[in-house]
Amino acid sequence: MEHPFVTMNGINPYRHCSHRCVYCCSFAQGCATPWYSRRDVMKELTRALETLPADQKISLSPCSDPYTPEEEQHGITRLILEELHRRNRPYFVCTKGTLVTRDIDLLSDYSVDHDVWMVLGALDEKALSFTEPGAPSPQARIAAMYQLVEAEISLTVNAAPLLPWITPAEDLYQALPHCERIHMCPLQVQHMGGKIKLFDRIWTQAELSANFFAARAEFTPRDNVTWHDPMPDIP
Ligand code: SF4
Repeated sequence: MEHPFVTMNGINPYRHCSHRCVYCCSFAQGCATPWYSRRDVMKELTRALETLPADQKISLSPCSDPYTPEEEQHGITRLILEELHRRNRPYFVCTKGTLVTRDIDLLSDYSVDHDVWMVLGALDEKALSFTEPGAPSPQARIAAMYQLVEAEISLTVNAAPLLPWITPAEDLYQALPHCERIHMCPLQVQHMGGKIKLFDRIWTQAELSANFFAARAEFTPRDNVTWHDPMPDIP
């Protein structure tokens, strides 16, 4: 599904998302192609920033990932970030992409209010190559997280979705650098008719939620870890 360049809560530099996660709730799976060329994007960005409230944290990007491999060639996310810093506009970056470390120079500049999140819900490379086939390996993402933290970037990790039957939440926690906050989130498949085929079996939402609650019960609570309940099913 194609999402527009500007939405109510942010800016999508790319149409589609090459990470192609099987559970994507924005149905963005596809080859990431820039909405606008490097030459034209500034004009469109200026227009977009006029429509978004100045005190709103602009999401980069709400419907696709801002750091798919295509960003290395096109650099559209980088251009937008530079402009947000020039204009002192607060923003929020959430990514599975390790290319985020390229922008450490900007992301470590807190004169502009912003948040940096990385997404990882399991440590098994083979499993994630099925669920998130175009995204960097879990090991590469963890290495990127360490780089961000070493650069004194206040990192939040979004374990969304946590796959606790693949990697226990405790093992995931132990593998991460010390983060500002870690969000444990269940796999939600209501948008897929309430079930998903993963690996060798079909999971219903009820089974996924039960698995998630069992993982929470086994986990030693920590101050920097927040568990999020599954959304209620819509009757
Ligand atoms: S990284 Fe996010 S936007 Fe991209 S396919 Fe995966 S869930 Fe969808």
